[in-house]
Amino acid sequence: MIIREVIERKRDGLELTRDEIRGAVEGYLRGAIGAAQMSALLMAIVLRGMTPRETADLTLAMTESGEQLDLSGVAGTKVDKHSTGGVGDKTTLVVAPLAASLGVPVPKMSGRALGHTGGTIDKLESIPGLTTDLSPARFCRQVSEIGVAVAAQTARMVPADKKIYALRDATGTVESVPLIASSVMSKKLAVGADAIVLDVKVGSGAFMSSLEGARELAEAMVGIAARAGRRAVALVTRMDEPLGRTVGDAVELIEAIETLAGGGPHDFVVLCEIVAGHMAALGGAARNADEGRELAGEALSRRRGLAKFREMIAAQGGRGDVIDDPGALIAEAQRLPVEIEARGCLTGIDARRIGFALRDLEVRAGPRKSLCGLLLHRKVGEALERGPVATLIFPPEAADAAAAACDRIRAAFEVGERQPTGRDILVDVISAGSGQA
Ligand code: URA
Repeated sequence: MIIREVIERKRDGLELTRDEIRGAVEGYLRGAIGAAQMSALLMAIVLRGMTPRETADLTLAMTESGEQLDLSGVAGTKVDKHSTGGVGDKTTLVVAPLAASLGVPVPKMSGRALGHTGGTIDKLESIPGLTTDLSPARFCRQVSEIGVAVAAQTARMVPADKKIYALRDATGTVESVPLIASSVMSKKLAVGADAIVLDVKVGSGAFMSSLEGARELAEAMVGIAARAGRRAVALVTRMDEPLGRTVGDAVELIEAIETLAGGGPHDFVVLCEIVAGHMAALGGAARNADEGRELAGEALSRRRGLAKFREMIAAQGGRGDVIDDPGALIAEAQRLPVEIEARGCLTGIDARRIGFALRDLEVRAGPRKSLCGLLLHRKVGEALERGPVATLIFPPEAADAAAAACDRIRAAFEVGERQPTGRDILVDVISAGSGQA
């Protein structure tokens, strides 16, 4: 294989063979192909796209570039879950133990913060003592024994994606459906679950801002799963305003615990029930997603997921008293009210703006960054009454930066006369072979 010819073929809009794709991925990982040529190939893919077969071949080449887990020793249909990332998206913290409490084994490897979005691993690590650094053997044993583990991906898994992702980040080649779909799915396939629920976010706070783009990404990922012999369902869900009423590591963990205890904000609870419902259906714990959703709602009100979360925290070395007194996590944080003058109805909260303001504040906060967060007192559609729309929290050492962050966050709130309509969190469900269901 001559890489220059592969680049030219993709540049001219031709379909690459499996060997050409594999040769490019393996060659770049080994160092036989340099960054200049790989960047050119990535840009050609951005501009010309890939067929479903090419996208699946790229995914498998990346999956097979490193260690893959062997979950065959874990009984039952293992179901994974993935979100394409949003602001205030703490869904994994609830649905992983919730689905496990319904009898579905959940092996979940998660990522850290990316761009304006937070990461599940950062949120979990706000629990004192808890480790997300589990060896493959410990990870599989934990899923066998208690039905759920949420861990950080090991350095030996999917090294090709790591190296290619860094190059994409530096060369303006992130925004491409085949490249995003293969990057996400290569990691899912390496974990080895039998089925996957994909939460594809759409809106201003998501990586995909248009519905058309989100559907295309959902279809590409479900198609990859089908070609790799896994079952998958993609839920296209709204991400215009932050999910729930919290944004930030510790405050999102607290909100997840409140939700597992039967409370939680409406939009977030609905999303968790829907996602866990699909996981239950794929895992054989429910006849269909609707029944799964009912079971998930019942398990939330009976605190079954909370009991499972407690087991998971203990198994990963974390302090269980976090569940009994989650507020203690932010006891040392200082607070600043976010106030706006206007009266009327809240018509928008720019999730992206809030995400970036908090990420910048976290950088300034240093080691205690998990104390940075936002508590939303008003959601879109609610009337503005007296009092702050939100409260910013932060460690005392970040007080100077917090004042500036507060100004940026204030600008994220839009006020109007009328309540916005059509705000259901679930926009579409896409499964293999069904197109848009
Ligand atoms: N998340 C990933 O894992 N990969 C991408 O390319 C984009 C988001």
